[in-house]
Amino acid sequence: MPDFLTAEDIETLAKPQLLAEPQMRADVLVIGAGPTGLACAIETQRIGLKVIILDKGCLVNSLFHYPAGMVFFTTPELLEIGEIPFTTANQKPTREEALEYYRKVAEHYHLDVRQYEWVKTVVGEDGNFIITATDRAGRPHDYHARKVIVSTGYYDLANQLGIPGEDLPKVSHYYGESHPYYDTDVLVIGGKNSAAIAALDLWRHGARVTLVYRGSQLHHHVKYWIKPDLENRIKNGDIEAHFNSYVQEIGVDHVVVKTPRGTVRLKNDFVLALIGYHPDYDFLRSMGIELSENQCRPVCDPVSLESNVHGIYVAGVIVAGSRTNEIFIENGRFHGKQIAEDLKLKLRP
Ligand code: NAP
Repeated sequence: MPDFLTAEDIETLAKPQLLAEPQMRADVLVIGAGPTGLACAIETQRIGLKVIILDKGCLVNSLFHYPAGMVFFTTPELLEIGEIPFTTANQKPTREEALEYYRKVAEHYHLDVRQYEWVKTVVGEDGNFIITATDRAGRPHDYHARKVIVSTGYYDLANQLGIPGEDLPKVSHYYGESHPYYDTDVLVIGGKNSAAIAALDLWRHGARVTLVYRGSQLHHHVKYWIKPDLENRIKNGDIEAHFNSYVQEIGVDHVVVKTPRGTVRLKNDFVLALIGYHPDYDFLRSMGIELSENQCRPVCDPVSLESNVHGIYVAGVIVAGSRTNEIFIENGRFHGKQIAEDLKLKLRP
């Protein structure tokens, strides 16, 4: 090292992107390898840009954590990305078929997906971002990118009840499958689709199910082929339901529920709090992205999806902030095209 640095040296050091290993450098770095992130990578790759995708979990990690055997509400063509046909012998695809489909899409487009790399920080400025991620062993890796697309979804952060006992190991905010709950007392909290499906599936596989919902009846968003099924199970006494009710406390062997008829203490082995999920607002703020006051929507151009931080784009459900029922795979998958249109003008390869 020389004793002093010339103006040229300083300029070079100020542009770490130039010093980075080629495999750690990209035109576009996509954070999140869900269907939306993959669509963003495909569309930006198509205009000739070098793209790296990082995900803290596996490919389409959220879908992987959906219940086993889950059947999508939607028909397969609405889940398609990159114009790759998604076919299934059934009317609606299953979780397993979707996993297979997105694996094949990633393979087809030779997407550079780096799984199990958790992005911790994004610093720098438009044209020169440094993204630091930790791998499975906790080792840090620095990436350099001219543009960043954030498509981190919302399924990793579950809404919380904020009541005593919520942190007990018997409490989960995710439903995987029925078998571990056979012959046990399970409390399901929530009144929309996840709660309704789990309650029915658990009951059909030998669990004793109690449903607690703060609403006066099952939410009208529960699908028309699920709602009457559950209502009939409740009417028949197969599933006990408490409406206008709130869980107040979770103990090792019991739960306390405040109902319109008074507070009841129920025997309980497991609690499934299926009360929804939310985007990682702190992560968005850490990059300098401003969020709207009430709904935590990121400030962004509605057409290009570029956020208030030049060079950082948002895609997928995070665009809707806390209104997570506005953007799904079905519409979020088009965000990649919107962003690519903008990048085509701004980044000529
Ligand atoms: P959700 O639609 O956000 O519903 C959350 C439920 O929890 C609501 O009933 C809500 O009550 C209740 N809740 C929220 N915070 C609460 C709190 N603090 N205390 C008590 N209750 C609370 O979540 P979801 O059912 O998991 O569905 C998430 C998304 O996945 C939706 O878009 C859904 O359509 C989709 N989904 C798809 C499939 C499929 O494709 N097969 C299956 C399941 C779900 P309120 O009703 O009063 O707001």
